Amino acid sequence: MKKIIIAIDGLSSCGKSTMARQLANQIGYIYIDTGAMYRAVTLYSLENNLIVDGKIDEEGLKKALPSLVIEFKINEETSLPETYLNGVNVEKKIRSMHVSQYVSPIAVLGFVREAMVNQQQAMGKKKGLVMDGRDIGTTVFPDAELKVFVQASAEVRAKRRFDELKAKQGEADYNEILANVVQRDDIDMNRAISPLRPAEDALILDNSELTIDEQNQWLIDKYKEVISA
Ligand code: C5P
Repeated sequence: MKKIIIAIDGLSSCGKSTMARQLANQIGYIYIDTGAMYRAVTLYSLENNLIVDGKIDEEGLKKALPSLVIEFKINEETSLPETYLNGVNVEKKIRSMHVSQYVSPIAVLGFVREAMVNQQQAMGKKKGLVMDGRDIGTTVFPDAELKVFVQASAEVRAKRRFDELKAKQGEADYNEILANVVQRDDIDMNRAISPLRPAEDALILDNSELTIDEQNQWLIDKYKEVISA
């Protein structure tokens, strides 16, 4: 069967990763969460004094960036991919609110985007890939055979993120999460390089009213349409 590239972009915390991961599992494709890559760069910056008093040391980060190794490895117990930074599992740390607060300002930087996009394009050379992010259909893989842009109201997205963080960490603050979701959307949509927007040929999915099963089914149906065309 022919292998394709599937690009899933959309707003923060709209369930992109859930649907992308599920589809990749179902059809035997590699899944790449590009948000995790920007989060790993952010974590590195926070842990190495490259963000001080909210200010990013751009020169320092530019120097350090080539030495950062970001990888994904499957957790044998959960069968889910987890993020590694320089050989250390950082999956939990990169999902913290602290990282969420700084990730969009880091993702604005042109040299960071260039480095991440180069790595992402290299991962897609053999196709058979589901990649989620903000600029996959517009910049990373403008020729992707299937492009989806996912959206949902800010309140719905904040509630989902709240439930997820609460389950994982035992506590979460809904208002703080809502403010972060709105702020990240604003930075992501208004940045100069690769702003968040649907590719012209993307299919738009508003999943505010859909269950996870319904959105997964919608996506697999679209995949089947493309593959059989
Ligand atoms: O997908 P996630 O919410 O984990 O992404 C975290 C942040 O990384 C986004 O808010 C955005 O600023 C940045 N990002 C990006 N381009 C991508 C993926 C994520 O700018 N392809």
